[in-house]
Amino acid sequence: MDFEFTKEDLKVRQELREFIEKEGTPEMFRETEDNGDIYGAPLGREIIKKIAAKGWLTPGWSKEYGGLEASEATCYAIRDEMGYMGVPFGFVAAHMAGPTIMRFGSEAMKKEWLPRISTGEIEFALGYTEPQAGSDLSAISMRAEDKGDYFLLNGNKLFNTSCHIADYHWLAARTDFEAAKHKGISMMIVDLKSPGITIGPIITMAGWRTNEVSYEDVKVPKENIVGKVNQGFYYMMSALDFERNFPLGRYRRIFDIMIKYAKETIVDDKPIAKNPLIRQRLAQMAIEIKATYLLYYNLAHILDSGRIPTYEASMEKLFATEVAQRITNLGMDMLGLYNQLVEDSKWAKLKGSIQKYYQTSIVETIYAGTSEIQRTIIATKGLKMPRR
Ligand SMILES: Cc1cc2nc3c(=O)[nH]c(=O)nc-3n(C[C@H](O)[C@H](O)[C@H](O)COP(=O)(O)OP(=O)(O)OC[C@H]3O[C@@H](n4cnc5c(N)ncnc54)[C@H](O)[C@@H]3O)c2cc1C
Repeated sequence: MDFEFTKEDLKVRQELREFIEKEGTPEMFRETEDNGDIYGAPLGREIIKKIAAKGWLTPGWSKEYGGLEASEATCYAIRDEMGYMGVPFGFVAAHMAGPTIMRFGSEAMKKEWLPRISTGEIEFALGYTEPQAGSDLSAISMRAEDKGDYFLLNGNKLFNTSCHIADYHWLAARTDFEAAKHKGISMMIVDLKSPGITIGPIITMAGWRTNEVSYEDVKVPKENIVGKVNQGFYYMMSALDFERNFPLGRYRRIFDIMIKYAKETIVDDKPIAKNPLIRQRLAQMAIEIKATYLLYYNLAHILDSGRIPTYEASMEKLFATEVAQRITNLGMDMLGLYNQLVEDSKWAKLKGSIQKYYQTSIVETIYAGTSEIQRTIIATKGLKMPRR
């Protein structure tokens, strides 16, 4: 069993770090934080296009479509490093839509979309959740009626983050109204500038934006259907098995900042790193971070061996997102009352970043499947327990 990265992996990671140190600007880092680390805002697009030009946006893809044919371990390392360094690392096109098109799309669709995704030219917004369909995506009810050479869409989506800064909607809609719930859904790509789409803001407690989106008689050409009609539920589930992973890099950076703060902050003539309670809790956190990385790279190893992770992906997503919350909780405790101050306050410690990620960390255990849903998958697929 080898727990080491290859020399090539370490080299890529170092190159990427140096590249971001050189190209990153305070405005871009701020923009990224203000958008919850997702891709689509202008300054993020500038740097990600340069990162993509080196093949690092879609490193696992074939060279034909703009990748490096890198191992999953390398892909995981790159994504984690991007999170650590503070550039956007939440991609719908590169991490969810692209791989699904690669697996299930027609040749024409691959040629049309994959090159534009791997260069970072376009971004998609994830269009799954609706007011009555979140954990249970088989309840999706947005209507897509077959009108000959196009579908006519009507209905509402909720919490569709990045619709206001993305170019296209990666949309799940109902195309068969009689079939069993999970057999009548199709995946399609919709231009977010299409007439009839209204995008309204929902501001999260962390200050960044997600959206409610309404469709009123929106026409979607038939060639924008992904794979086969009515197979969308299967595509969504299969994509989650591959892509449900959570790189902890962003929060590991917060942890490193906390360690430095503990060493440098003097209270009663001593650094707070000498306070037994703080040391114990930081040491405990270090163990949990290490354990998260073992789960994270184990997932990459499963994929590199040609297997499909199911409950293992849920284990990592669940554990990593709960660790993220424990890191920021500890950070809030360490800062005391300063923890309430935002970046722009002159009294803010650590540029207000702890409170920002404390609030962002809440949603990590909700999207891409809540912790309850992950535990159900681990119980049924991992432990082979009966469904309730
Ligand atoms: C800030 C934010 C951004 C988001 N961004 C996107 C996005 O870009 N695109 C997108 O499509 N979606 C997005 N989502 C939606 C997210 O994926 C859903 O909120 C999530 O899947 C939960 O669905 P729900 O909100 O409908 O809650 P529900 O499914 O109604 O769940 C409510 C509670 O019941 C529990 N529960 C539900 N079913 C079960 C069960 N079978 N067993 C045990 N417990 C259960 C859940 O764990 C939860 O605690 C976002 C959500 C938020 C909050």
